[in-house]
Amino acid sequence: MCGVENILKKEQLTKEDLVFLLSLKGEEQQKLFDYARKIREEQTGKYVYFRGLLEYSNLCSKDCLYCGIRKSNTAVIRYIVEDEEVMTAARLILSAGYGSMVLQSGERSDRKFTEHISYLLRSIKSLSDNKIGITLSCGEQSEEVYKEWFVAGAHRYLLRIESSNPTLYKQLHPQNQLHDYHQRVKCLQNLKQIGYQVGTGVMIGVPGQTLSDLADDLLFFKEQDIDMIGMGPYSEHHQTPLYARKDELLSQNERFYLTLNMIAVLRIFIKDVNIAAATAMQALHPQGRELAVKVGANVIMPNLTPTKYRENYQLYDNKPCVSDTSEQCMGCLQRRLASVGTVIGYNEWGDAQHFFNKKT
Ligand code: SAH
Ligand code: SF4
Repeated sequence: MCGVENILKKEQLTKEDLVFLLSLKGEEQQKLFDYARKIREEQTGKYVYFRGLLEYSNLCSKDCLYCGIRKSNTAVIRYIVEDEEVMTAARLILSAGYGSMVLQSGERSDRKFTEHISYLLRSIKSLSDNKIGITLSCGEQSEEVYKEWFVAGAHRYLLRIESSNPTLYKQLHPQNQLHDYHQRVKCLQNLKQIGYQVGTGVMIGVPGQTLSDLADDLLFFKEQDIDMIGMGPYSEHHQTPLYARKDELLSQNERFYLTLNMIAVLRIFIKDVNIAAATAMQALHPQGRELAVKVGANVIMPNLTPTKYRENYQLYDNKPCVSDTSEQCMGCLQRRLASVGTVIGYNEWGDAQHFFNKKT
């Protein structure tokens, strides 16, 4: 009668095992969480790595049906963070000893934008004497642009697949070439080939998604040999087309616990990847991010976007920390992490062990 324990210890989890584990609730779910925590501690010790997150610009040429800063949302005031403010964030990262920065942005492919990102990458690298590791999350770009950014100093890239089910992907995006599932997969493959540590992920609890889809997402991460994964609950935004389907959603609590299940199962399924505790976790639960760490995540991204821009980078409603300063976000996360028995890995890039394991 100890089904969960037996499945957890299997060498190879099948799709059926994954679906079963994702469905766990109550006492059995706790066993899953405890086991995932043990694996995280074996893999990464007690260390959790911080990446200072700068939401560089909300200008976006795309219209993803779920996202609050989609091009068609005219209620958003568009911004680009000033160069000097980017450098201030980089200095803050250096002085706090975080080791890494994430530059995230709406998607633009015009030369003015892509060249400016190269300029910022070089500037951050030179300001920090190459001490700051830089992750980019600026959407789909040509292979040439990805190469240019790699040469300029980015070494990790986050591009969520959103859903690995092409039919579901279609339902979440407008039907045009700019929002093509196969192109997104191609981008992930290009990034890997160029030499980036590649991150992807999905939203959990979108309308129409099943446990079988989520199990397939986990299999997709393995198949694509992904190094870093960021998964967060879908959280609706009232000025988006997908909001019309809000009555189909699981409750916030159910979406939150399903996301914890995904994190825990992922930690057991692909042990050596970096897993981020997404900010959206905290939109659905006051201890969202530390609970994500408790069940297997090992990366957290304190928000270092200057406060005046934050209200215009709301991908979903009730985004936490919108009125906080960078210093408040840093202090708050340090306390939250201490509450779950982990410590911050200072002055290290905190790269995913997976990236190095596969090279040996
Ligand atoms: N433009 C880039 C990066 C910014 S968006 C890109 O799309 O890749 C970063 C992530 O925010 C997206 O990948 C998506 O998974 C997440 N996101 C957008 N809208 C969301 C919502 N309503 N709820 C939860 N996550 C959302
Ligand atoms: Fe733009 Fe990214 Fe939002 Fe899509 S998810 S609309 S690409 S910012």
